[in-house]
Amino acid sequence: MRVLLVEDEVEIRSFLERSLTEAGYQVEVAPDGATAEELAVEGSHDALIVDLGLPDVDGITLILRLRQLGVKAPVMILSARRTVDDRVRGLEQGGDDYLTKPFALAELLARLRNLLRRHGSGGNPSTRLRVMDLELDLLRREASRGDEALQLTPQEFVLLEYLCRNAGRVVTRSMILDQVWGMRIQPDTNVIDVHIYRLRGKVDTAGHEPLIKTLRGVGYVLKDR
Ligand code: CA
Repeated sequence: MRVLLVEDEVEIRSFLERSLTEAGYQVEVAPDGATAEELAVEGSHDALIVDLGLPDVDGITLILRLRQLGVKAPVMILSARRTVDDRVRGLEQGGDDYLTKPFALAELLARLRNLLRRHGSGGNPSTRLRVMDLELDLLRREASRGDEALQLTPQEFVLLEYLCRNAGRVVTRSMILDQVWGMRIQPDTNVIDVHIYRLRGKVDTAGHEPLIKTLRGVGYVLKDR
């Protein structure tokens, strides 16, 4: 899945570039409308993520221009403009979804998957993740171990998805905060430990080999063998 990210704010751009890459997307980035136009016309992207407040052109104008140039990929608008009028205008003028800043990474990834599925690009095999007897259906947002369905909250699902994508590798608390919550909380907070504790209670039940391991003072690792 190839995604073109058009965003002028360096921090958001690099955060999203890294997060989307970790989520399995091939990402191209553009800091302004002119670069975006060049890349969009040359490359065949499966989706575009476009910030409205760009330095050289308004995002809506850019989207209209890209449509004129024959770019058909679905567009997710990312914007700090949050009124109903702004959303309606964005969606009427070529955007396919609209996400306001600040946003949670989990929501952006979920919406992006929906967008790709609606536009017929989502049916690739990477919509499922499997580690040992643990399986995640990323489209339905359902998880199971063996024959048993796991009853996870949306947040628990995202956390488990992140652990699965990094199976066999150590993930630290700050990586989880950054990637799953998409924000910085006080690093000494025990919010992660609480969520892991609850998740483990659902995933590592009696009769199953424990998968989620704690490395004291370091972080967590999901066993992959
Ligand atoms: Ca901007």
